[in-house]
Amino acid sequence: MCTCIEWQITGLPCVHAAAFITSLDLPLWHTYVDDYYHVYRYECIFLYNINIIILI
Ligand SMILES: [Zn+2]
Repeated sequence: MCTCIEWQITGLPCVHAAAFITSLDLPLWHTYVDDYYHVYRYECIFLYNINIIILI
């Protein structure tokens, strides 16, 4: 987490965190991003279809 709190609010690493992560020998970016942005979360959201009811 960073003191600028951008990372905490957005769930994405801020420029400060990105600078640190980039300096690592093996930067595993996906471990620093909130689960909300992972593909499996999108899949969960759209797992079920919403049936539209047309009223005439
Ligand atoms: Zn920051």
